[in-house]
Amino acid sequence: MASVILKAQREKSVLRRHPWIFSGAIAKIHGSPQTGETVDILAKDGKWCGRGAFSPRSQITVRVWTVNPDEEVSPALFRSRLKHAVESRLPLLEKYDTNACRLVNSESDGIPGLIVDRYRDFLVCQFLAAGAEYWKQTIVNQLAELVPTVGIYERSDVTVREKEGLPKLTGVLSGQDPPELVEIREGVYRFLVDIRHGHKTGFYLDQRDNRAFVHEYAGNSEVLNCFSYTGGFTVAALKGGATGVINIESSADSLELGLRNIRLNGLDMAKVKNMEGDVFTIMRQYRDSDRRFEAIILDPPKFAGSRGQLMRACRGYKDINLLAMKLLRPDGILITFSCSGLLDKDLFQKIVADASLDAGRESQIIRWLSQATDHPTSLYFPEGSYLKGLICRVW
Ligand code: SAH
Repeated sequence: MASVILKAQREKSVLRRHPWIFSGAIAKIHGSPQTGETVDILAKDGKWCGRGAFSPRSQITVRVWTVNPDEEVSPALFRSRLKHAVESRLPLLEKYDTNACRLVNSESDGIPGLIVDRYRDFLVCQFLAAGAEYWKQTIVNQLAELVPTVGIYERSDVTVREKEGLPKLTGVLSGQDPPELVEIREGVYRFLVDIRHGHKTGFYLDQRDNRAFVHEYAGNSEVLNCFSYTGGFTVAALKGGATGVINIESSADSLELGLRNIRLNGLDMAKVKNMEGDVFTIMRQYRDSDRRFEAIILDPPKFAGSRGQLMRACRGYKDINLLAMKLLRPDGILITFSCSGLLDKDLFQKIVADASLDAGRESQIIRWLSQATDHPTSLYFPEGSYLKGLICRVW
């Protein structure tokens, strides 16, 4: 087997079970491993540290599969990891009375680069790294055996694959073609999910717990839902008793599907207004025309995709939070998120605090929010915690 030899001291992170080995940590490569192939990972003194997937094009040259010398990287490894991940979700499906759930969360479930989401009886997979791609057929076969499904669909149409030198791919991996829309259940909510074209794998499953908090905290309020996508938070707010919701979203298709979700949930269409356009622009218009709201939700896309974008991203988060602070009525509720993993909790809190200060408001944190429990984070991989949010009372 080919091997990579690390520079002095660089085995430390592997021994701490961090799954990434960056190109700068590697002194030498023995043999000529192909993309995705398994390599041995050796310390500078030759000591064996683990086995991982080789990805020559990526900055993350190796993603570690195992640090156990007795564990071969074989179909059996994938079977046991997939089985463990899938079984750990079974109680969640019951607890949340849902048929939609993340079954495999990449590094945090021991399979770097693999995302598997279940929507009713369809699975949607993303293969985001060379190693996961290499074992794709094994993974698909085993998923088909482990989970009762009608079909398995691939949504590997994401830009991170370019960093791995992999092409974007979509299509059926096993079983039937998914229908145009799949209806999922989440407690009292129903949602239509566009598996083929929707964002990520189709729906923001990671916001499940936070839909429940929106239900609770934005009930009886007039709500502004910024970056509304297909209206997950809109349905939650209305079910919670909101008197009206304005959605701001740049995608007309998402807004349209959002209206279908309102209808599907038996909610009053007259309480919903769609504003197609840019959140920054429309919030400024509301500010200038003295329009005010009792609750505002901010769930923007990832502003920081790389370290180089972090400063600009911070300004973006500050801008929208400042506008929201200005648009809230006294004792209003702000529910604000960042899904940029590079921006940590402390910095996010500071940005929201700066926004409050600049708006001349008093604010308190009522609750910290994070990604739903089917998106766990391995303790050895803190990068897995990407979604953070705050519920603030503002007066
Ligand atoms: N809150 C949603 C997910 C939001 S994802 C949910 O829980 O389902 C972010 C959304 O913001 C995407 O739908 C994207 O189309 C939209 N978007 C991105 N930039 C925008 C902008 N500047 N103005 C309005 N919408 C934008």
